[in-house]
Amino acid sequence: MPQTKRLAAVPAELHLRYAPDLLTVEIGANESYSFDRAGCLVRAAWDGHLYRWGFDGSCLQKAFTVRSSEKVRIRHDTAAGLVMAHHAYDRAIRLFSQVQLEQESWRPVLQQITAYGIQLLQNRARRFKELYGDVSILPPDQYGALVLQLTEGCRYNRCSFCTFYKHIPYRVKTLEQFEAHIQGVLDMVGPAIDRRQNLFLGDANALGIPFGQLLAVFELVNRLIPVNPADKTAIQGIYTFLDIFNRRPYTAAQCKVLAQLGLRRVYIGAESGSEQVLQVLRKPNQLHLLHQCVAALKEGGVGVGLIFLLGAGGMRYYHEHAAATTRLLSQLPLDKRDIVYLSELVNDPHSDYALWAEQEDVRPLSPEDARNQEQMIRRALKPVDEDGPRVSRYDVREFIYY
Ligand code: SF4
Repeated sequence: MPQTKRLAAVPAELHLRYAPDLLTVEIGANESYSFDRAGCLVRAAWDGHLYRWGFDGSCLQKAFTVRSSEKVRIRHDTAAGLVMAHHAYDRAIRLFSQVQLEQESWRPVLQQITAYGIQLLQNRARRFKELYGDVSILPPDQYGALVLQLTEGCRYNRCSFCTFYKHIPYRVKTLEQFEAHIQGVLDMVGPAIDRRQNLFLGDANALGIPFGQLLAVFELVNRLIPVNPADKTAIQGIYTFLDIFNRRPYTAAQCKVLAQLGLRRVYIGAESGSEQVLQVLRKPNQLHLLHQCVAALKEGGVGVGLIFLLGAGGMRYYHEHAAATTRLLSQLPLDKRDIVYLSELVNDPHSDYALWAEQEDVRPLSPEDARNQEQMIRRALKPVDEDGPRVSRYDVREFIYY
């Protein structure tokens, strides 16, 4: 439990809150500023909004006192995010000066915050750009993982709805380049590594390299950042995306070896159980390979995260998409270690999918239609208390790598 301390001589509502990995100064119920052990601002709340900063200095702002059911979400780029962070540092430093720190392990951190303020976040944002360029997307349960970018971009990069990696040329790092990248990441994160429980191998399909190469990668990662589920303060596991159309799926025996080296779950953009919808999405998934791949991963002791697109194909494919996806899900050997994400298709106006929908006059799903389609798909799955997978919504607009 975080400890709370208030000094008698300071405003009654001013507190410091300590968690193992976060120091928070808060005043009243609606204003707070939280910092990691590198002195970098992680999140804040003021004026009825929540703010979360990414490694790149960008910021996601959300309203938390919403009267209408509409969620208020504003994404600030790095320049704007750092301006807001500047305000937050100034305010937090003033508040810190009025309270007495009681956990000595945070003293050097507080000294850093007071001495350097916003520069800490600016330096990390600059280093992040040098090391990563960008981290375009992660599954929601991995937003807080430490990303190690083995590959950059997506080798295929032609799905009609996806614009995540359009601007990024695909490449696989050599082992030497990857080692230098990991060393740079460790240096950038510094003592704030204690906030990370998982590693995520990026980008779109880091597992899509020959098995021998992959083994060397897993051994390197374990040498530099040991994965040890027996120690709750250590990294607990490795996670990654996989596509299922660029190469033959790994065998169960190969998956078992990767599981022994820390691989816990693999996320696959399944998108739909319908061949027709997959064609519209220009996603070359083959359903028999998806079956094989999921079976091998499960047999090898690796969990799966399957992502399906709610609303794919619009109203034209409303029933086909739901029925075929339901059928597919009922055939896969999923259990409580797995996750099914239902991600609403975000119609990027610059995407080929948007062009198709316009030319074909295909109506998108209303929020109510999307909820109904979600319910149809959910009904195909066993509940978690009967050893079924977890099912969750996935809103890519909420993504920020923090
Ligand atoms: S959806 Fe996946 S496979 Fe398709 S372009 Fe995007 S990252 Fe690549």
